[in-house]
Amino acid sequence: MQGVVVLGATGSIGDSTLDVVARHPDKYRVVALSAHSNAEKLLALCLQFKPSQAVLVDDAKAAWLAGELKAAGANTELLTGPDALCEIAAHPEARQVMAAIVGAAGLLPTLAAVKAGKRVLLANKEALVMSGELFMTAVKEHGAELLPIDSEHNAIFQSLPYACQQGESYGRHGVTQILLTGSGGPFRTRELASFAAITPAEAVAHPNWSMGQKISVDSATMMNKGLEFIEARWLFDCAIDDIQVVLHPQSIIHSMVRYSDGSVLAQMGNPDMRTPIAHAMAYPERIDAGVAPLDFFSLGQFSFDRPDAARYPCLYLAMDACKAGQGATTVLNAANEVAVAAFLAGQLPFTGIAKTVEQALGRFAGETASDLAGILALDYESRLYLRSLLPC
Ligand code: NAD
Ligand code: MG
Repeated sequence: MQGVVVLGATGSIGDSTLDVVARHPDKYRVVALSAHSNAEKLLALCLQFKPSQAVLVDDAKAAWLAGELKAAGANTELLTGPDALCEIAAHPEARQVMAAIVGAAGLLPTLAAVKAGKRVLLANKEALVMSGELFMTAVKEHGAELLPIDSEHNAIFQSLPYACQQGESYGRHGVTQILLTGSGGPFRTRELASFAAITPAEAVAHPNWSMGQKISVDSATMMNKGLEFIEARWLFDCAIDDIQVVLHPQSIIHSMVRYSDGSVLAQMGNPDMRTPIAHAMAYPERIDAGVAPLDFFSLGQFSFDRPDAARYPCLYLAMDACKAGQGATTVLNAANEVAVAAFLAGQLPFTGIAKTVEQALGRFAGETASDLAGILALDYESRLYLRSLLPC
């Protein structure tokens, strides 16, 4: 029986994780859960999964939640505030920690799980984008096990030789290229001239995946693929020129690995995050994820294309930032988070997201960040700068 902590339990990845956990009560036991502010949902999860600890970051409804837990006779200790996230990430009874907080807020708790030597199920890509080398060094130093949840990275992991899954360099095992696939989002064929009029409701309606709001907007701009490019660079210690982004609108192939003998290995499946989650939780074994079998007879055609720079400027900004280094990726991530929030609040047009990110990258060009304090300071400075520009 393995203890599991779910950071970001009330989100989309949280839902999928707890669905997999609930299918295997003989294998997994929830020991702690976290939510930002959705006290009602956290209460329901605590009553269902009976964790020993729960964190509600925003304490506005903490008294209400504590009262409800007590009235229900639950043995869950309620903690509040962001520091409590790091405490539960290192829960002594946890073997695995699902890092599914969205954005930079997930960095310190995810690092806390790494430093506690847990199996870290990494959904929170922004943590790796912000801290790259520092994060990967911490994984090695503390003997943590890092398993990718992002469907593309999980697909790459599955398609790599076993020795590379265990940390050996891919170049020594005949791998020549990482093919990162992406659907192109909801605006792949939309008239470019109408991009400034895209509404938040249109942007969050992804054709293939059901996800949280921020990653849905990131998928529409393809900043998500850019963040994933940086994520792949660190997770698999890739040379930047060895990663290629391929549009694959059907989202059935989740990514591919090319080998020197001409082989290309792909991982396929229905677009359902329970597959990579179940894979990472059970690795190296396989368990039921509740996902419908892929039916090749009803799939229709697969197609592939190159991503267009005019349609997806955020993807190219991210790839350039990856080349520029750690300071640029930290600024890129912070600027994108602020710009997406402004877009969702109706304060910035869709096309303003890329412009804002580009402006921030220009303002902080040449900045470096090598330690955690430097990364957090640059993240903070970038947000401050953007808030002075944006009306939010
Ligand atoms: P979501 O918005 O549905 O859920 C986010 C979770 O984080 C919630 O539980 C929320 O309470 C918590 N949270 C938000 N702000 C917080 C803060 N300041 N402090 C603490 N907790 C906070 O998001 P999601 O779609 O589940 O995505 C979560 C992460 O997983 C993101 O980094 C995303 O990029 C990544 N991811 C998601 C998917 C997907 O299919 N949804 C796929 C791949 C990767
Ligand atoms: Mg992904």
